[in-house]
Amino acid sequence: MKIYILGAGSIGSLFGALLSKIGEDVTLIGREKHVNAINNNGLRVVGVEEFTVYPKAVTEVPPEPPDLIILATKSYSTAYALECAKESIGEDTWILSIQNGLGNEDEALKYTKNVLGGITTNGAALERWGVVRWAGKGITIIGNYPLGKGEFAERVAVLFKKAGLEAKVSENIVGWKWAKAIVNSAINPIGAIMEAKNGYILENEHLLALAMEVVKEGCQIATQRGIEFEVHPMNLLLETLERTRDNYNSMLQDIKRGKRTEIDFINGKIIEYGKDMGLKTPLNFALWSLVKAKESQTK
Ligand code: NAP
Repeated sequence: MKIYILGAGSIGSLFGALLSKIGEDVTLIGREKHVNAINNNGLRVVGVEEFTVYPKAVTEVPPEPPDLIILATKSYSTAYALECAKESIGEDTWILSIQNGLGNEDEALKYTKNVLGGITTNGAALERWGVVRWAGKGITIIGNYPLGKGEFAERVAVLFKKAGLEAKVSENIVGWKWAKAIVNSAINPIGAIMEAKNGYILENEHLLALAMEVVKEGCQIATQRGIEFEVHPMNLLLETLERTRDNYNSMLQDIKRGKRTEIDFINGKIIEYGKDMGLKTPLNFALWSLVKAKESQTK
């Protein structure tokens, strides 16, 4: 399959490397220093598995339409990245988002009806240019966006499994996207504000109570929009906190590095969807405001 990884940073490079290892025609589209390192020395994966592959790596989207574009930028870069890719989105091209946050697939729907939503609980981090750490194995769930299984989604899941990624197809990917966003809307800002590992939220009764209330607020908005969950976000919250207890979440890491966070696409989207329905989301608003303030402190 001809695959473009649009936004080859941490998670995109991991997916690109694994797909390249099984012989798929992968092109990584990323920033110059990473692209140069890959072109000079290959793309190295360390951690869960250790290997080097030699996929194509470029800074601009090639003109030939691929079969699949895996969207792996941060959510705030999605709209611009898709605009740069629009000439390469052919009639038969599918776009799959493996990003966190809400609204990425809706951006993709502006260019094609062939959109797959996705979530992944794999953990990846760029160790240095050309080297990605597979920090933790997880599952990737994909499906036609907003609903439906679809033949192409099945093909992609087969490919992911062949590449060593645990994967499954869901008929309700919008439910999974919301469930993950709701869980992130609690863990990420609380961890970022407290500068604490995820496990601390589980151990501290005040933080856990707050996280659970934030999850309830997000669920109310989702329910009003008719979203149904395969796994309830409250269960997912507890499972995620337990599984990632030793991790500092990505929002905290972004703040520490002086980078923009994805808060506008997590809590910000829940606030926005609430407003659309005349519903207030005071907890999400409080967390969003504090993270925005923290972001501007580090600028
Ligand atoms: P990341 O390391 O920042 O990777 C994104 C990369 O895309 C960056 O190098 C970025 O460059 C680049 N980029 C942005 N726009 C581009 C464009 N138009 N052309 C080429 N390159 C472009 O982020 P990440 O950690 O991989 O996360 C990506 C998404 O996956 C996020 O939504 C995240 O929440 C989600 N996710 C990540 C993980 C993980 O373990 N990392 C796990 C699950 C989900 P600049 O930084 O210069 O913009």
